[in-house]
Amino acid sequence: MASASGDMLGTIAPDGRALMYIGGAWQDSSDGATIDVLNPATGQPIAEVASGSVEDSLDAVTAAYDAMGGWAATAPRERAEILRRAYEIMMDRADEIADLIVLEMGKALPEARAEARYSAEFFRWFSEEAVRVIGSVMTAPGGDKKIMAVHQPIGVSVLITPWNFPAAMATRKIGPAFAAGCTVVLKPASDTPLTALALAKILEEAGAPPGSVNVLPSRRSGAVGEAMLTDSRVRNLSFTGSTEVGRKLLEVTARHIVRPSMELGGNAPFLVFEDADIEAAVEGAMVAKMRNGGQSCIAANRILVHNAVLEEFSSQFSAAMAGVNTGPGFEEGVELGPMINSSAQEEMKELVGVATGAGSSVSTGGFAPDRPGFFFEPTVLTKIALDNPILDREIFGPLAPVVGFDTEAEALALANDTEHGLAAYVYTGDLRRGLRVAEAIETGMVGINRGLISDPAAPFGGVKESGLGREGGDYGMFEFLETKYIAADW
Ligand code: NAP
Repeated sequence: MASASGDMLGTIAPDGRALMYIGGAWQDSSDGATIDVLNPATGQPIAEVASGSVEDSLDAVTAAYDAMGGWAATAPRERAEILRRAYEIMMDRADEIADLIVLEMGKALPEARAEARYSAEFFRWFSEEAVRVIGSVMTAPGGDKKIMAVHQPIGVSVLITPWNFPAAMATRKIGPAFAAGCTVVLKPASDTPLTALALAKILEEAGAPPGSVNVLPSRRSGAVGEAMLTDSRVRNLSFTGSTEVGRKLLEVTARHIVRPSMELGGNAPFLVFEDADIEAAVEGAMVAKMRNGGQSCIAANRILVHNAVLEEFSSQFSAAMAGVNTGPGFEEGVELGPMINSSAQEEMKELVGVATGAGSSVSTGGFAPDRPGFFFEPTVLTKIALDNPILDREIFGPLAPVVGFDTEAEALALANDTEHGLAAYVYTGDLRRGLRVAEAIETGMVGINRGLISDPAAPFGGVKESGLGREGGDYGMFEFLETKYIAADW
């Protein structure tokens, strides 16, 4: 059996405690409250992390606010070099980051290693973007002045992240914030605060000045979020999480017109047309569904297959799902780790009940194995009627409903029949059809003949109730910049 390979950046002290990082200092919460972090593969506690109070969150805002002027005035090259060093440290210590991810989040070790490297790439990409914040100058149409547009850092930014990619969701925000010259307070998910604290250690070692990055785990997320977002020193919120919490936070940001950027839930359709390479489509569906154990906002949520190839696809896909090796993330050969917690596991059981209650069949899996931890078997559901309520839910686990369709128009109508609009996947042998369908699908991202679309250089984000704004690519910077117009006469 493989196991944790290093000291995981010393994030967990020998007494099992981990501290918050505020103003360049490692400290306890003001009222001594803690979060028990569990190993989802065993259900047992692994660390006790300081849980920030409202007072601590305002201290973090003060630290970020005090550091803001100096940080914004730093040469872009200097900020770029800090990010570049953070990238290098993270790559050097990728295995230790991966161990922390497995320990607190549960995913299989190879996936955790892939996440560690993917997360580091956001630091590298934004170190390269930091020196390319380019404005514009033009002569006004009336000839009376010059119109200059310059981009400036928006100010103190609150970053709130989910547990499913505890490293990547944080670096995807810290990278552009730092590159733009913003200071940040990061509030990670309470299930996975350790990886975020390790990132603070990496940034500290890379030379990030005190106050530029603050990491505040807190179980009191509602109170702490509200306190920070109604403090007029905070100008920006970058949130990744559920649509439900995003909606609440939008109401809070409305009070002081804090700029929101929202990466929310998805319900991705995965379309397989009759002219697709079925083997490739099955392989793509396995990646799109099972990456991160299905606990991904862009996970294939509804697999829509042309009726002419439904039988062939379903049997190959069910066989591939049945062959997935489930077990604790550190175990050799494991491909699917546990779900994040017991309620996520319960939700999978409930969803199988909802789908079968409405007439669908379980073609493989459908149950939680009898072992400690929060495991759930890879599951395929077939014979899904179009009004089956499972099609309206974000599944967030290793469970895939497969639905038949007859025409391209029907497939598109089904794909778009959701309030979400994050990602979609299209498998077809006809690229013209692929592009036509990609254009008509109401999502922010589409994979054509690919199950993996995430890339730090690409604009990631959704439409409809899946979000506002984009992360990654050169677009990611604009979430942390304001544009100022200067009218000049010379
Ligand atoms: P969540 O329950 O919305 O939590 C996300 C974060 O928000 C956590 O840090 C949580 O803290 C915090 N939070 C919860 N209630 C809050 C409140 N009232 N005020 C301020 N903060 C609050 O989501 P999750 O279960 O962690 O993650 C799964 C969801 O994230 C899925 O819907 C998934 O699709 C979405 N997601 C979207 C993307 C994307 O890029 N679009 C990427 C990944 C995940 P606590 O942990 O302390 O509650």
